[in-house]
Amino acid sequence: MKEELWQAVLAQIQLTTSPANFATWFRNTEITSQKEGKVVVGVPNAFAKEWLENKYGKAIFKILHSLDEEIKEVSYEVRKSGLRILKRAPGSQGLGQVPETGQLEFQEFEIDKETNLNPRYTFENFVVGPFNELAQAAASAAAKNPGQVYNPLFIYGGVGLGKTHLLQAVGNEVIKNFPQRKVKYIPSEKFTAGVVSSIRNREMENFKLKYQTIDVLIIDDIQFLAGKEKTQEEFFHTFNALYEKNRQIVLSSDRPPKAIPALAERLRSRFEGGMIADISYPDYETRIAILKAKCLERKVELQDEVLGYIASNIQRNIRELEGALNRLVAYRRLQNLAPDLEITKSLLKNLISAPSKIVSVKKIIQAVSEFYDLKEKEIISSSRKKEIVKPRQIAMYLLREELKSSFPFIGRKFGGKDHTTAIHAFEKVSKELEKSENLAEEINLIKQRIFSS
Ligand code: ADP
Ligand code: MG
Repeated sequence: MKEELWQAVLAQIQLTTSPANFATWFRNTEITSQKEGKVVVGVPNAFAKEWLENKYGKAIFKILHSLDEEIKEVSYEVRKSGLRILKRAPGSQGLGQVPETGQLEFQEFEIDKETNLNPRYTFENFVVGPFNELAQAAASAAAKNPGQVYNPLFIYGGVGLGKTHLLQAVGNEVIKNFPQRKVKYIPSEKFTAGVVSSIRNREMENFKLKYQTIDVLIIDDIQFLAGKEKTQEEFFHTFNALYEKNRQIVLSSDRPPKAIPALAERLRSRFEGGMIADISYPDYETRIAILKAKCLERKVELQDEVLGYIASNIQRNIRELEGALNRLVAYRRLQNLAPDLEITKSLLKNLISAPSKIVSVKKIIQAVSEFYDLKEKEIISSSRKKEIVKPRQIAMYLLREELKSSFPFIGRKFGGKDHTTAIHAFEKVSKELEKSENLAEEINLIKQRIFSS
């Protein structure tokens, strides 16, 4: 019960927190007691206690209170022993570090220290629909014949749409079918950190050797290699060494290789030499199917009306879909009462009509800058540099398309430009869109960011 309650809180917090912050502050936290309206949250150290109280205290209280009105007070305490008993896979070493996958790990202890794989991500519990069937089919084929069919396999798509799940499913499936093969899953930030520390400690040779023994190398969120030249170079060598030996390489990214800025040309062409599959947005039927599958998994029944409400309101992010469901499941268990539509609406109020869901000028500019790896200042400057002009025109286009802003308004927002500049930008992008599939795809990916962040 306490566990579920805390999981519901974490699921919620995760939606509004960066993965790094989330992992830093919420790892190894739990509800240690709950009675008479008082909840005590156990944290591993004094620093985390202070941080949670000050930065997250309000949000945590709100969520708890919305799940159970009885809860009137939340306090934090440093747990005496920072270590919990962890179940370890045989052969893995020490308590070590918990791998940082940027995902919410309810069962962190289950993550295999050798492979970094979380056994909860499998093909069996991955729901397939038109939006992800190509990616799923390719992943499944790669898992059946590692290194033989699609190499590298490159999967891309927006936030919370199942990339990590699919990548890890490949790893778990390979281990199941070929227990002797060596599989490694690693988020690209971790790979980068490994390169940096090996260079510092003069252990590059070791680092290389370690990677060359891997049969299936899975690197998540490869877009974070953008601009990291040294890491890209090391990755290129690792890639070639494995590729030549027919070892399977699986990669994910939030965008296709051609849209990753500052990616060495030779890497880009390596990525494009294999299979590229995208994951787009799930349609309504699949969203319902996903919700139903998750209900079964959690052994909870919810009314169709309730599932329909969630599926109609959360369209672009499966993680959010799950977050909403977790909330209802927690409520259901705590109150021993299935939430009806009215209760559901109020439980999901801040999830569904969260202010961050509303598209704004700021959000568009931010999403475009991030996508093209520019500073917001640069986009609204009057620089004529090619790498800035195009993103700026796209931002102007999106302001018009998504917000129906007037051209004079758009001009003003971009450093006091004339409305004719805005019109020109809009027309140019519109025309280009008719001819260029690449551009259409880039703009779609940017929109995903605007709507899902
Ligand atoms: P991404 O890596 O693309 O940001 P994740 O793989 O972390 O997304 O998926 C977010 C959450 O949604 C995970 O809990 C995952 O298990 C779930 N999920 C995503 N796609 C599916 C699917 N097709 N079927 C079932 N669950 C899914
Ligand atoms: Mg992911």
